Amino acid sequence: MFGGSFRIARLFGIDIEIHPSWLLILAFLAYSLSEGLFPARYENWSTAAYWTVGTIAAVLLFVTVLLHELAHALVAKRRGLPVPRITLFIFGGVSHLARQPASAGEEFQIAAAGPATSFVVALVTFLLALLFGGASEQVEGILYYLASVNVLLGIFNLLPGFPLDGGRVLRSIAWKRSGSFRKATRTAAGVGEFFGYGLMAVGFFLLLGGLLLNGLWLMFIGWFLLGAARGETANLQLESALRNLVARDVMREDFPTVVPGLPLSAIVDEYMIGQGERAVVVTNGGAVLGILTVNDIRRIPREEWPSTPAQAVMTQRERVITVDAYSPAIDVLMLLGEKALNQVPVLENGRMIGLITRRELLERLQLAESLAA
Ligand SMILES: [Zn+2]
Repeated sequence: MFGGSFRIARLFGIDIEIHPSWLLILAFLAYSLSEGLFPARYENWSTAAYWTVGTIAAVLLFVTVLLHELAHALVAKRRGLPVPRITLFIFGGVSHLARQPASAGEEFQIAAAGPATSFVVALVTFLLALLFGGASEQVEGILYYLASVNVLLGIFNLLPGFPLDGGRVLRSIAWKRSGSFRKATRTAAGVGEFFGYGLMAVGFFLLLGGLLLNGLWLMFIGWFLLGAARGETANLQLESALRNLVARDVMREDFPTVVPGLPLSAIVDEYMIGQGERAVVVTNGGAVLGILTVNDIRRIPREEWPSTPAQAVMTQRERVITVDAYSPAIDVLMLLGEKALNQVPVLENGRMIGLITRRELLERLQLAESLAA
């Protein structure tokens, strides 16, 4: 759902991305602050002053939303859970965690860090407004605005629905009590659906009452929460479809092998273009020497392909990431995502017995899902 996002920065090893919908909300916010909120609260500023202050306040709000997300991400990272990126979009921000939290305590800490940060930001900006607001109406206006919106952000995010932090806090508590992640997810998703419908209903009544924009906005958020709650339930089904499978169930045993001296041109023609393979295994009399992928070959200029043997370009066996034959399939799927791999060899007693490719694993998943439904 975040297609089209672009990267604006990298902080603490995390890519900070912006979705185009955020620019829309930023422009709308700057407009409504400059033409609505600030003129209503402060008289006798120039139009230029309203717009400058409105735009600065909108951008600073963006910074405080980012602080909220960074709090989630840094707590996650400190607990050893990788966070490749943070995306800012129309409803605020989302931190992409590479896997589900491993324990109720971990999920609670990560989820609670965001709203806690928003409340701290609110307190700090409020105190700054008290201290320095007297010097300038403009500074006071921005600081009070940031304080009040961060209180609202903290409260809104604590609503108990996915994917809001409150939904995760609720799940971590249910998880701790029941000891079952699956049961807890179902509980939290159910509450989230209830809230989604509730917000849509309230929005509908506001709309009937003539509050068109507010009504539509609430209905939109409700619809979003509903979709997120259902998505979480669907993920759970996916996990249960994969739960009983291990690497050897989803691997292929007929992976293509080549001899170390075979030139790249022959490999490209016969295996990659010819059979649609993205990787071949380099072997010598049954012993695996390494793996050669489309990406490895792309690094070599085309005119050198006929004279370059597979051995010269392949990733050496000791540097290839592998999985054990009995690793859970769900872990393999996450490993492929985390390391951005297209395939991973499967080992049993140190011997390579198969290859799992991302494409085939996803096809199997879809099949398992359609059969489970
Ligand atoms: Zn949050």
